[in-house]
Amino acid sequence: MKQTGPMPLAQLVAEEFGVPLDNVMLLRHSAESVKKLLAAGGTVEDYTYTQPTESAYDYLHPLKTPVELVAVIVRDHLYGVFKVLGVEREGTTYSLTSEAHQRFDMARGKPPRPAKRFSMQPMQTAYAGLPVHGWEGRSRTAVQRSDGSFFLEIAVAPRVDPEDSSTLQQQLNQRLQAALSDTPARRRERLALAPKLPRIVTVTTSAFVRNADVIAEVLLRAGGKCESCLSPAPFFRRKDQSPYLEVHHKVRLADEGEDTVANAIALCPNCHRREHYA
Ligand SMILES: [Zn+2]
Repeated sequence: MKQTGPMPLAQLVAEEFGVPLDNVMLLRHSAESVKKLLAAGGTVEDYTYTQPTESAYDYLHPLKTPVELVAVIVRDHLYGVFKVLGVEREGTTYSLTSEAHQRFDMARGKPPRPAKRFSMQPMQTAYAGLPVHGWEGRSRTAVQRSDGSFFLEIAVAPRVDPEDSSTLQQQLNQRLQAALSDTPARRRERLALAPKLPRIVTVTTSAFVRNADVIAEVLLRAGGKCESCLSPAPFFRRKDQSPYLEVHHKVRLADEGEDTVANAIALCPNCHRREHYA
């Protein structure tokens, strides 16, 4: 498999959005606080958008380089990248947040502190959802800027280029299982931040060069009817009005099945899918 080495997360997002590295902040919400936050009904956005004034999290701290981009890390995955547009309001950590967030702060014993509510824009990043490494064992430090001790050590895991289309399909199936077992709220949260255009990867595929005579013989043998359920082909091909059936190998070529008339069967699309998935 082709791999690229781990890349500093800050550098990736700085380049992605054309922002100087000094204006990028990495913010990691601890697993423990995120758990409490979600239990209280709060959102990662609410948690991210309000910060105590002149704290390490103050994106527009008067004595520090202004933060333009915040890369938010949740459960050691890149949750999202947010652009800091400015300060929306000032108040306290209680007056500026949702009731759910206030319950969360109360539950963790945080008194109200002077705070800023930032106007922030979720950015569509190509790195959303990727595992983030380098913060392990440093859980007490939730924030890193370019002057931080390990700012450039926080890296996204190497992107593995799938070596073939079946690997890609397997990975999609794994992500689908995870998505189906997640909560609708979490799916919606991710969907709201997801890039609308899919990422493109180049795949290399090995394929069998099939014998056209086998296909022709089997289609003629079938005479326009599925050889499994005996239903007529569901439609006719646009190009030549021939009945649409798919020629399937009973023992897969990948399992050393033969590309012969005897090992092939003409199936309607439903029966063909059933052969593969039922
Ligand atoms: Zn059929």
